[in-house]
Amino acid sequence: PNTPAYIGRFAPTPSGQLHFGSLLAALASYLDARQAGGQWLVRIEDLDLPRNLPGAADQILQTLDTYGLHWDATVLWQSQRTDYYQQLIDQLLAAGQAFYCDCSRRELQVHAGIYPGTCRQRQLSAAADRAIRVQVDDHPLSFIDRLQGLFTQRLQTEVGDFIIRRRDGIIAYQLAVVADDIAQQVSDVVRGADLLDSTPRQLWLYQLLGARPPRHLHIPLAMRRDGEKLSKRLTSTPLAAEQAPATLFRALQVLAQEPPAELARADINELLGWATVHWQPERLPALQQLPDLSE
Ligand code: GLU
Repeated sequence: PNTPAYIGRFAPTPSGQLHFGSLLAALASYLDARQAGGQWLVRIEDLDLPRNLPGAADQILQTLDTYGLHWDATVLWQSQRTDYYQQLIDQLLAAGQAFYCDCSRRELQVHAGIYPGTCRQRQLSAAADRAIRVQVDDHPLSFIDRLQGLFTQRLQTEVGDFIIRRRDGIIAYQLAVVADDIAQQVSDVVRGADLLDSTPRQLWLYQLLGARPPRHLHIPLAMRRDGEKLSKRLTSTPLAAEQAPATLFRALQVLAQEPPAELARADINELLGWATVHWQPERLPALQQLPDLSE
């Protein structure tokens, strides 16, 4: 069987400007795609309208461009695609794989964030002010992350039936990200490890929608450099255009790509050219090898 072409993507949420932490994710997915001779797409995940920071999406695109991270095809904006997401939700509802739920946050509080299945069998009808959840089961759901290795979750006991459309009508990230990765035929997801434990929920949706899931590579976003944990300040500072080459060089160091010292004064094209040829994601530390990041 022939392997489908490589299609990667960067899918920022415009709730803030592009900062060093998100540049690492963008750069890693870009390099992985370019090294494979694949396409690299950009998608703006702007569904959570109240969280969108005005101007942030344009700033993110502008910054990617300034950093030489040029994308293929046109940018997809999730806020323009709600009809498509709703179609998939209707399909899940019709198949009995999703249901309406009117549980309040307070009612769910005692269950520590794991949905106990309250409304599963209630056959609630469509109504404003009701969330829609997808039904899960308790089989161990596993996948092999290219860096993190085997990752397993039992959705029913560890997550519960999860929300695909919120009670305020906003389509949930889990549904939209899968819907678009399917529509864009994404073969490889390279993103921050903060999303590692969302992946089983997403794989479950691929299964229900009968689509072939992508490969995954979750990179640690809080890493040590020179024995020091990357500070919150460093990872969250907006990126200055004038410093693009120096910042890219630093990003390559943080991604453990060991750029040679001569490249410290190289321009963006030279840096990205070198990094594309030499990209070795297996050099990144897996999460288990990182110091405790919880504090
Ligand atoms: N939009 C998500 C975020 O910015 C990332 C989605 C993804 O890469 O799957 O956290």
